[in-house]
Parts: sequence; C-alpha cells; structure tokens
Amino acid sequence: MKYAIPPAPVVSLPVVGTDTQFPIRRVYCVGRNYVEHAQEMGFTGREAPFFFLKPTDAVVVAAAGQAIEIPYPSLTKSYHHEVELVVAISKGGTNIKAADAASHIFGYALGLDMTRRDLQGEQKKLGRPWEIGKAVDGSAPMGPVTPISASGEINSGAIALTVNGKTTQSSDVSKLIWNIGEIIEHLSAAWELQPGDVIMTGTPEGVAGVVAGDVMVATCAGVESLTVKVV
Ligand code: MN
Repeated sequence: MKYAIPPAPVVSLPVVGTDTQFPIRRVYCVGRNYVEHAQEMGFTGREAPFFFLKPTDAVVVAAAGQAIEIPYPSLTKSYHHEVELVVAISKGGTNIKAADAASHIFGYALGLDMTRRDLQGEQKKLGRPWEIGKAVDGSAPMGPVTPISASGEINSGAIALTVNGKTTQSSDVSKLIWNIGEIIEHLSAAWELQPGDVIMTGTPEGVAGVVAGDVMVATCAGVESLTVKVV
C-alpha cells in the first residue's frame, strides 16, 4: 500500500497494568444522561438517550499519572468541562441487549467532553448540528483504560471533577438516567458497534467554564484519574 500522503496515526489509550494500548475507532457521546445536568440545561431529564460523535483526533491521551495539556480553543468565551465515564468496546455488534452489554466492554477510562457552550447554544437555537460546539480540536482528553477484568462491571461509584482543587462536579455513576447496558443497547440499535469504539456516557451537574491556566482533575471509583491543564 502506498499512501498519497502520510496516514493519520492511530489514537490509542494506555491499558492499565499492561504494556498494550487500546486503539480508538470512534468516539460516541451520550447527551444529557444525569437528571440534574439535564435540568441545569433546561430539560426534564426524561428524554430517550441521544448521541453525537467527536472526531477521534479530538482525543488527547494521558498516560497513568501524567498531567496533559489541552488548548483553550478559538471562537469561544465559554469553554465548559464535562467529566464523563468512558466505556471502551472490545467486541462489536448490532442490537446488543443491555443484559449482554458487559461482554462487549473492554474497560473504562475517564474523559472530559469539553464543549464550546456558547457556540453549542447558538446551534441549538438555529436547529443546526452541534459539531462546532462539541467536535472541537483537543476537546476529548482521556486517561488510561482499566480493563473490566480488573475493575469488574462499573454501574456505581463516585465520579467527580475539581478545578484548581475546588470540586465543581460530584455525582455517582448509579445516577445515570440510562445505564451503561442500556446505552449500549440503544447505540447498537442505531449503529453497528465496532471494536475500538469508545462511549462517553454523559456528565453530571456542575458543568462550568474554564480559562487558560486552570487544572482539572477527574476521578471515578475504580478508574485511573485524569489531570488536564488548559493552556
Ligand atoms: Mn457530555
């Protein structure tokens, strides 16, 4: 195979406890999946799950214990953090039942669904796609993947984000409106999931803007933490 230009590198996350990497294929995101976040965005929290994607090259990879930097992006005055549990898929499929979903999970990581909130809001009002708000360069920092063989299935546990040491988001994975099995059921009804796909499962309440110099630390019980500085 001769490429006309050099192909993009494979984006991959370190796998905790191994010398291997998890190669990312697609980045799916779930919108409004914690009741109190849906409410803070002006919704009831009872809608069916919906999905959007970020480009894989929006992912900024952190090794275990490594603080990473993301750029403050262009065009926005309101760049929001959203801490999320990320599910890494090892086995693809369509119409996966929630009860079988765990057998499709490779493991879990922490991620931030960074959002140009002002631009997202404008697009919503106009009935346009959200990409300019969500599919931002550098907008998906992610930490290492903890294999499900080590963590067990994660359906509960504290999830939180601090900014400069102050807690801004604090909830529990058990408060997901649609749990991980249900997310995989809905997602695989709409797309054929593929090995390497990752799912950002939604953010709890407390989203807020950051500025250059802010340091965010994301934590979730059973998952490697993630430290991200905005520059
Ligand atoms: Mn989100």
